Amino acid sequence: MSEHQETQAAYKIEVRNVSFDYEDKKTKFAALRSVDLKIREGEFICILGASGCGKSTLLSLLAGLHKPSAGEILLDGRHVKGPGTDRAVVFQQYSLFPWLTVKGNVLFGIRQSGRKLGRAQRMELAESYVESVGLSGAKDRYPSQLSGGMKQRVAVARALALESDVLLMDEPFGAIDPRLRLELQELVSKLCAEHKKTVVFITHDVDEAILLADRIVVMEPGRIRSILKVRLPHPRVREELAGTEEYEKLHRQLISAFYDQVEEEIDAEVAL
Ligand code: ADP
Ligand code: MG
Repeated sequence: MSEHQETQAAYKIEVRNVSFDYEDKKTKFAALRSVDLKIREGEFICILGASGCGKSTLLSLLAGLHKPSAGEILLDGRHVKGPGTDRAVVFQQYSLFPWLTVKGNVLFGIRQSGRKLGRAQRMELAESYVESVGLSGAKDRYPSQLSGGMKQRVAVARALALESDVLLMDEPFGAIDPRLRLELQELVSKLCAEHKKTVVFITHDVDEAILLADRIVVMEPGRIRSILKVRLPHPRVREELAGTEEYEKLHRQLISAFYDQVEEEIDAEVAL
């Protein structure tokens, strides 16, 4: 191992004993309690959990939009102090600039990356990212002229254009119809592998998690319940996965993790 490699952080992202409280003058709500998670460079992590269990809170801490109430978050061995161009974020709600075209939105990502490029180079790069998400024919359209699926393609292209090592995605395809959703999942899987991204992808869809993830982090309210490794080769194709032993086993484990959670909630209610 070279000296350079020895000084590199062992993990790309480290979440160390992190808790987070939403606080106002009168109330305090513990949204995360003692969360630990280590993510290696190039890993695709899916965070799976029921609504309200703290997935978006965890992502916003990774993005630097909130600070942990306790514990620490490291990126490349350094503390995360706020948002940065070393992490691209894609949200469920289309967060495109309505006054910019498809190409303009992607150009924004390129400008944000801070690379010193001439105008022609920037244009060429923007076109290549637009093409990579299959939108060349719509590059001069404005967001209001696009379908939901097309908007999320633009959001993905803009995030890739930032050329950050880390990509954080919060239920990016939650509002997209199932057929198109599958197309986008396969696109993201392919592009993230090509660009060697470290990805944290939030979902409440078991199939989506199995299709995309190297490891699936299952959350229950405020904490990590379990972490499952997905031992299926990439690229994965939905029709080929269904019915394989590994897929069925994972599916059962994940569904039962959810089901137990619901049972526990019902038990808690009955006990009240
Ligand atoms: P998820 O993304 O898993 O649905 P969130 O991280 O959005 O969950 O929320 C976790 C918990 O924190 C929920 O119970 C939610 O009601 C609460 N919460 C989220 N945002 C706020 C906020 N700004 N103020 C108070 N509580 C919040
Ligand atoms: Mg959420």
